Order: sequence, then C-alpha cells, then structure tokens
Amino acid sequence: MRGVVCTGNSIRLDRNLPEPQILPGESLLRVRLAGICDTDLQLARGYMGFQGVLGHEFVAETLDGKRVTAEINNACHTCDTCRASRQNHCPHRTVLGILGHDGAMADLVAVPIRNLHKIPDAIDDRRAVFIEPLAAAFRMIDQATIGLGTRIAILGDGKLGLLCAWVARTSGAEVTLVGKHRAKLDLAGAEIQTVLLDQTEGLGRPFDVVADCTGSASGFATALSLVRPAGTLVLKTTIAGEYDTNLAPVVIDEITMIGSRCGPFPRAIAALATGEVDVTPLIGAEYSLDDAEAAFQAAAARGARKVLLHVRNN
Ligand SMILES: [Zn+2]
Ligand SMILES: [Zn+2]
Repeated sequence: MRGVVCTGNSIRLDRNLPEPQILPGESLLRVRLAGICDTDLQLARGYMGFQGVLGHEFVAETLDGKRVTAEINNACHTCDTCRASRQNHCPHRTVLGILGHDGAMADLVAVPIRNLHKIPDAIDDRRAVFIEPLAAAFRMIDQATIGLGTRIAILGDGKLGLLCAWVARTSGAEVTLVGKHRAKLDLAGAEIQTVLLDQTEGLGRPFDVVADCTGSASGFATALSLVRPAGTLVLKTTIAGEYDTNLAPVVIDEITMIGSRCGPFPRAIAALATGEVDVTPLIGAEYSLDDAEAAFQAAAARGARKVLLHVRNN
C-alpha cells in the first residue's frame, strides 16, 4: 500500500508499504481523506523522533462501509491512570501517527475499535477532517470557566487559534482573537473581535481567560500581559524552544495556568453536524496522496490553511 513515511528528518511517499499490523482490539480502516497538521510538520523535522506513517486527522471507512474517524491516544485501559479515567495520559499509550503507532496518511490504517467515532452524514469529509483538532479546542471549555460573558482572548491566528475562538464563542464568551495577519484574523467572522498583535498595548488587562495558541515562546509573555489578576491562562500549543519568561507575575497576580491538549470527539462532532462551528474558512489546498510531498510543502508555507490529502478517489 501507499503511505507517507516520516523518516526522522523528512517525509517521503512509500508505494510499497506492508499492510498495517492489526493489534488485539484494533480494526482495519480504508482511509478516505487526511489533514496535514502543524504537528506533522514538526514530526517531519524530527520532533519526538517518530519514524513511521504520519497522520492523525482523518476520515476513513470501516471494511463494511461506515464513515468513521478515531481518537488518537491508544491507551492500555488497565493501568491506574486509565482506571482513573485519564486514558489520554496513559503512560503506556501510543499515539496515532505521532508516537509508536502508524498513522492515517496511507491506504489503510489500524486503530483501536473503542477509539472509533461514526461520522454523521451532515458532516462531509472535508469538514470531518477537523474533528480531532476541533475536539482539542473544546478541551479548553472542559478545563477553564468559559461561559456567557467571559472575556477571553485567543492569541494566534493560525488554525488552532481560529478553532479555539469559534469554540469559545459557542459558550457565549466575548471573544477577542489576537494575531499578526489581518487576512487570517478576517477568517474569524463577525462574531469574533480581532486585534493585531502590535495594537494590544491599548487593551489593558481586561481578559478573564487568555489562551496561547501561538506555538511560539513569545506568546506566553503576551498572554501574561493581557490576563487580569486572578485570571486564567490556557496553554494550547507546545513550542519547539524553551520559555524565557519571568514567572513572578503568575504568583503576584495569582494566575491559574492550565495545560490543554486532546479533547472530546463527541462535542466536536455535534458542533460540526449542527453547523454551530463552521470550519470551511480553514480548508486549504487539496492533493492526492500521490502528491504528498508537494502537499507537505504547501502545508509548510506561511499562512497555509489546512492542506488535505485525498487517499481514495471520492
Ligand atoms: Zn494535529
Ligand atoms: Zn493505561
């Protein structure tokens, strides 16, 4: 079969991969469409030392033709962490296309049956590719107090920033999206206030919650400068480097800091199915799996929207 293989420092399309090994409890799926995520670009540069088939945002079919996607953390379900309902933190887990398990940028992928979610007909393939990153955005709502009238700033006008802005809006929050690019901020739509990063100084510190989705080390200091005393700072992105920030304001202002990663698939599926969140503005260029190398170049371009890889000719 074909698959996009991460070699540890680059990617290539391999046309002669063996079919995936199917572990106990797993099911074999035929992949229809996969999305390229910034994490894939980082993995291709050697992040986490992953070697194998990439891909953790995808739509596939079961062998009897049902459209599905899957959660990406493959937990053991027997350890203390799993039994305490923290499967996403299972110390024995593999992660689809990221850690110790081949991913979905291939003709076939094997995933744990208990991780599968059916995709309603109301969500077409292009939107369904966003279920995983949208679920990650919804995680923030589980963790922080974000509701009617909460003043929240989202830092970063990339794909995750926009998803987080729309998700915060679903809870009735007053959302301000802060970014460097007017064109990307404009994708947010009329219900989201937008501010260019170099114009945040006049804002003061009005925000109950600030979510850093910048993926850069400087985002943290900006977030800290905007959150009110006794407010909450949500860290949504890992960064490649290290933070070099004075943490004294966290103590003095009693800021609550929350790390935030993977989230609830059912909530994301419901939001897409009802149109509560419309991800259409984030859909970018589309390629065949055969052109995966060009697709990765396009995904790495500045300001790229979500690049899609068509695996089956739908
Ligand atoms: Zn991702
Ligand atoms: Zn476990």
